[in-house]
Amino acid sequence: MLKENLLQVEQNIKEACKRANRKRSEVTLISVSKTKPIETLKEAYDLGIRVFGENKVQELEQKIPAFGSDVSWHMIGHLQRNKVKYIVGKVDLIHSVDSLRLAEEIQKESEKKNVESNILIEVNVAEEESKFGITCEEVLDLVKTISEFPNIHIRGLMTIAPYVVDSEENRWIFRKIKDLSVDIKDKNIDNVNMDILSMGMTGDYTVAIEEGATHVRVGTGIFGERNYNV
Ligand SMILES: *Cc1c(COP(=O)(O)O)cnc(C)c1O
Repeated sequence: MLKENLLQVEQNIKEACKRANRKRSEVTLISVSKTKPIETLKEAYDLGIRVFGENKVQELEQKIPAFGSDVSWHMIGHLQRNKVKYIVGKVDLIHSVDSLRLAEEIQKESEKKNVESNILIEVNVAEEESKFGITCEEVLDLVKTISEFPNIHIRGLMTIAPYVVDSEENRWIFRKIKDLSVDIKDKNIDNVNMDILSMGMTGDYTVAIEEGATHVRVGTGIFGERNYNV
């Protein structure tokens, strides 16, 4: 099942890249393994997966030690300031920075551990009440402020699009955040890169790729439905 799912996702990514005239190597597939047991992640590892996305600090703490340094871990979920210390230096990218206070905490912990933390700014493009992330209008100011932090490296933007039945409905969101990322890139802010655009989930990753995603976060499409009651 896992193998078939992965083959299907890989095929879909390839075709989306082709439609968009992009190289397959421009898109990183993040396997979103939240709620799944370590044995399932090992299975995915044996099938070639080396990049996992998790949304809870506690799960990251359990899962990271079960794998070697050839595996890359991404924090994709909302991050509380009091939990920052548990993941700094252990994850390769924090996708979900949505406030100055959170960035300040990441700076503090990164300095303490003498590491540089790669982050993305989470943007709530659709301005959904239920979602974290800042508005498009707020992004530039936050980016400029965080760019001064010596132990943080802004690598780009991330968005979680609304759940929709027809993925075409989210195309404008992906296009809007891509435009925003290009605008910021053009400003050539010191210590800021806009080389990463994390967008697209199981329901809409092919549209996201067509609109410029460099990282897609696919959970259900790879691992099947999640059971939150276990
Ligand atoms: C769970 C999650 C995903 C994956 O969602 P699927 O619809 O299962 O692919 C992607 N991004 C974030 C931030 C998530 O929390």
